[in-house]
Amino acid sequence: MNIILFGPPGAGKGTQSKYLVKKINGLQISTGDMLRDEIKNETDIGKTIINDMNDGKFVSDEIVNKLIKNIISNPKNKDKLIFDGYPRSISQAKNLDILLNDTNQKIDFIFFLNVNKDTIIERIKKRKILENRLDDELNTMLNRYDTYIKTTKPVLNFYSKNPNFHEIDGTLEIDEITRKIDTFINV
Ligand code: AMP
Repeated sequence: MNIILFGPPGAGKGTQSKYLVKKINGLQISTGDMLRDEIKNETDIGKTIINDMNDGKFVSDEIVNKLIKNIISNPKNKDKLIFDGYPRSISQAKNLDILLNDTNQKIDFIFFLNVNKDTIIERIKKRKILENRLDDELNTMLNRYDTYIKTTKPVLNFYSKNPNFHEIDGTLEIDEITRKIDTFINV
C-alpha cells in the first residue's frame, strides 16, 4: 500500500506517517528529514541547501527528485511508501507519477490534513521548543506557509478528483485523525 500525506507545514503529516509506518509496515519518506540529514552529515547536498532550508525556501526539484528516486526504485520498498512532504509542487507530483508508473506502483490513498493558519502557528511555536528547528522561527514559518499556499496547495487540484483522495480535519486530536485514516485503510 502506498500513501501520500498532504497538508501545510505543521498539519501533523509526520505524526500520522509514523503511525502508518507501524500499521502497514511502511517506509516514511520525509523529504524534510532526508534533507536535514544531508545538512547534519555535511554532505555536498547539505552544503548547497543549508541556507534555503533555514530560510524556509524550497530545495530544488532536481535534488529532491533524485533523493526520492533512489528510494522508490529500490524493489525492497515497493508498495510500502508513505510520502510525508512530497510532492510539494505540480512538477513533483508529475515526477512522482512517472516514477510510480516506471516501477509498476500506484498511490492507494491520499490524505489531505486540512489545518487553518492560526492552528499551524500555535503548533509550530510548540514544535520550535521541542525540536529546535531553525525553520520554525515565526517569520520563516510564515514564509513556508506562503510557499505552501502558492506552490503546494495547487497540487490539491491534481489529486482531488482522484477517488482515493480524502480530506481530513487536521485540527482534530491526533488519535481522532488516526481513527479517521484507519476507517479508510481498514476496508
Ligand atoms: P518539512 O520537514 O517537510 O516541513 O520540510 C522542511 C523543509 O525542507 C522545507 O521548508 C523545504 O525547505 C525542504 N523540503 C522538504 N520537502 C521538500 C520538497 N518536496 N520540495 C522542496 N523542498 C522541500
